[in-house]
Amino acid sequence: MNTTSKIALVTGATRGIGLHTVRQLAEAGVHTLLAGRNRAKAVEAALQLQGEGLPVEAIELDVTDAASIAAAAQEVEKRHGRLDILVNNAGIVVDEFGKKVSEQTLDAWRSTFETNLFGVISVTQAFLPLLHRSPSGRIVNVSSVLGSIALHNDPTSPIYDFKIPAYNVSKTALNAWTIQLAYELRDSAIKVNTIHPGYVKTDMNAGEGELEVADGARTSVAMALIADDGPNASFTHAGQVLPW
Ligand code: NAP
Repeated sequence: MNTTSKIALVTGATRGIGLHTVRQLAEAGVHTLLAGRNRAKAVEAALQLQGEGLPVEAIELDVTDAASIAAAAQEVEKRHGRLDILVNNAGIVVDEFGKKVSEQTLDAWRSTFETNLFGVISVTQAFLPLLHRSPSGRIVNVSSVLGSIALHNDPTSPIYDFKIPAYNVSKTALNAWTIQLAYELRDSAIKVNTIHPGYVKTDMNAGEGELEVADGARTSVAMALIADDGPNASFTHAGQVLPW
């Protein structure tokens, strides 16, 4: 059991922003669990980072599978007895580009919400008892500026025309969930915040983002490492507050 350094878990960490979040947390000295729904991919990614001397271990976790979540929480309890940082990073986009807002299928809405919202709630519920054992628990929900209702309703906003509704609304709901949970946790040692990583070059946008993936991980890492006087229920990117 690791009692000296902080323990973090990052979901959806086999590639993209999640993988770099694991790397940067580990480089900051945090013992970091690299969680992936595919065990082999998680182990391969963790071995790579371990080979560089970083304190990383793999764990299997599919955020849409209740049994997988329960097993992961049990495993973390057995291995570490607590959790200090949970980064809810796993996310998907399945909207069909080119379709009208009203034409996206209900299947697309349901599967998006299953991962981007219910997955986060379910993982958080499972790990909350372990986070309460931390002297300063942190939850970072990886949302998107595309979840901003205010910007989507503003014709002068750069995202005004970017209507992929199932994804966008799932992130709006994730932001709303963050505020609801922060209320419950307001007098506890746990802080929960939601972030926009930036428009980042990953598989999610076929590499068309603006930021390099390492830079896309920086907001998650910064919010995972906030001090005890840091924010609760904030929505930020790179230290800037975003409109809900
Ligand atoms: P990505 O490269 O597509 O990676 C997504 C990760 O999520 C992969 O590791 C994937 O695992 C994992 N994942 C998907 N479904 C999962 C499930 N059911 N259980 C566990 N893991 C699952 O995407 P990314 O760009 O790094 O995105 C990371 C987060 O940032 C997402 O929440 C996304 O919405 C958010 N975000 C990204 C951008 C951007 O510009 N890229 C902008 C705003 C917000 P597999 O390898 O097994 O598929």
